[in-house]
Amino acid sequence: MTPRGAELAGYQGQPGSFGARAAARWGKPVAFPTFERTLRALLAGEIACAVLPAVNRVDGPILESLDALARSLTELESAIAVEAEIEVPVRLVLAAPPGLALESVREIHSQAAALRQCRHLLARLDAIPIETHDTAYAAFRVKETGGPRAAVCSEEAALEAGLLILEEDVSDVRPNTTRFWRLARAGATADAVPGNDAAPDGPAPRAVFYAGVRASSALAEAGAELLSLPGTPGDPVRGFAVVPEKNVARAAAGTGRPAAGERVIWLGPAPEFVRPPRMRDIPKVTEVREPSVVAVGPFVVGGGRRAVIAGPCAVESPEQIARLARAVARAGATALRGGIFKPRTSPYSFQGHGLEALGWLKDAGDAAGLPIVTEVMAPAQVVPVAERADVLQIGARNCQNYDLLKEAGRSSRPIFLKRGFGTTVEEWLSSAEYLLDAGCKNVILCERGIRTFEKATRGTLDLGGLLVARSLTHLPLFADPSHAAGRRDLVPGLARAAWGAGVDGLMIEVHDAPESALSDGPQALLPEDLEELLDEFGILPGTSGSVERIRRAIDVVDGGIARLAAQRLELARRVGAIKKASGRPIRDEAREASVRARFAEALGGDTPGATRLADTLIDLALEAEGGKEPAIPRGS
Ligand code: PEP
Ligand code: MN
Repeated sequence: MTPRGAELAGYQGQPGSFGARAAARWGKPVAFPTFERTLRALLAGEIACAVLPAVNRVDGPILESLDALARSLTELESAIAVEAEIEVPVRLVLAAPPGLALESVREIHSQAAALRQCRHLLARLDAIPIETHDTAYAAFRVKETGGPRAAVCSEEAALEAGLLILEEDVSDVRPNTTRFWRLARAGATADAVPGNDAAPDGPAPRAVFYAGVRASSALAEAGAELLSLPGTPGDPVRGFAVVPEKNVARAAAGTGRPAAGERVIWLGPAPEFVRPPRMRDIPKVTEVREPSVVAVGPFVVGGGRRAVIAGPCAVESPEQIARLARAVARAGATALRGGIFKPRTSPYSFQGHGLEALGWLKDAGDAAGLPIVTEVMAPAQVVPVAERADVLQIGARNCQNYDLLKEAGRSSRPIFLKRGFGTTVEEWLSSAEYLLDAGCKNVILCERGIRTFEKATRGTLDLGGLLVARSLTHLPLFADPSHAAGRRDLVPGLARAAWGAGVDGLMIEVHDAPESALSDGPQALLPEDLEELLDEFGILPGTSGSVERIRRAIDVVDGGIARLAAQRLELARRVGAIKKASGRPIRDEAREASVRARFAEALGGDTPGATRLADTLIDLALEAEGGKEPAIPRGS
């Protein structure tokens, strides 16, 4: 997502370079010949941000760019902030004009930093490194001049220049990456403009420029990553430090009083993460900060934690809710829903059993180990319901009932706010602003279908609106496929779509006798449907499940593993065939090591079991590629 529309992001190099790729993440890339020129353009306001390489995985700090930044900070006293950092994969290739064989390469052209990242290659080929100011430029030079010259550059740049790739991925360490910083003029960052989507692509480093011995030791003690530069006679130790979030306060205190002649300049945002809102009128909902996490006992959502609230539309009797609480807990739901006050279109329909049913709901939740979620429809219901309910729901019809929002926001309970079926995303978020403004710390938003011309479904689940909301707010976002569909058969499909779109959770209505339910029977899933769906999402069954229940979940996982294993082996076969056809050796030690490391990491590290499984998977893949004789079956 680019910040502030089509803003210009300056970088050093030319199209096809890694800098250009990094800059494209943050705006319209504009090339400059040098780092100094890029920084000057930033300070002159010609570009919105400058994108500089800071640290490479193989080579460490990129001296050329950091030194230019250091000089800009000290000599020009410029006010620059490091707004964000992204890591860009650096797949360097060795490329040459058609006709030049690998053995005949005598000169390798590339940027100094890139040459330092492939010393093994230089040593192996016994070629002379020739520095150019940019990797993409090296590719064009080599094409133009011909002779025994090759370039180290991106695959993209090689193809653009009309070179052939002699060797892929020539970095000394693979995968190789470079961390780029997005720099802005300090004070010119993140204006609060409605619709401004200046969310950082990566976490902003708390970057510090320092000069002097005392500052460097204070930063090192605070756990900072030091990016040292050669320094100057006046500033014997200088460089940049990246301070981990949790140590910012310590580092700031330690570097607060530098010794005479030492300097410390903070280039990061204010120590706390909260930054100007994306929309001025709804600041608390749209301020840029880490995703909010709402946690009530086993129910934890937001910031990567996902959960499901399930239960009947209405609490009908103590027995009904107790049974359904057990059923949804066994399926894997982590919160129980059930209406005690029901907003019904007809005054003659069942209106809910009221406060008496709150006790039934609470007892059922306690017995199943689940927190409870129930709707309040009027300000007067807030206090009595908040006494016992864990989460208060505000339903679609009351999304813009501002007195109710204010009263609910004052209760100490988390609020589950449904989107009204006639409210825009902005109006929905404005309603959430009422809750936060009233002091509520924990708000969850839920899209439940809006009203459109389509009558085939009860509502239209607005996934686009959900994604828009995701880009604007830090609050957890749910979808309710039950009320959107109004029909049981459509609920799993909508649930999958919402899950795939990245919601933090789902609210799903469940009933074990839907035909006799007092409300919303036609849209209720049966408990076994819920089990199947949650297994699909990888949500673990509740701890009270039977062996059969857990086996059903295991079968789904095994099915997934088997499908992925078959896919993996087919890919190995294909890569094996390509290698054979091109005469390339099947085995590649570096590649094997990186695949092994990936398996080991995914399987939980260096335990003997994980290593054994990783070895087996590698063996099978090699066998499929044709690089290894089929393993002799061990034992029986
Ligand atoms: C409900 O959750 O039972 C309900 C009435 O939902 P909505 O407000 O979304 O219609
Ligand atoms: Mn309902």
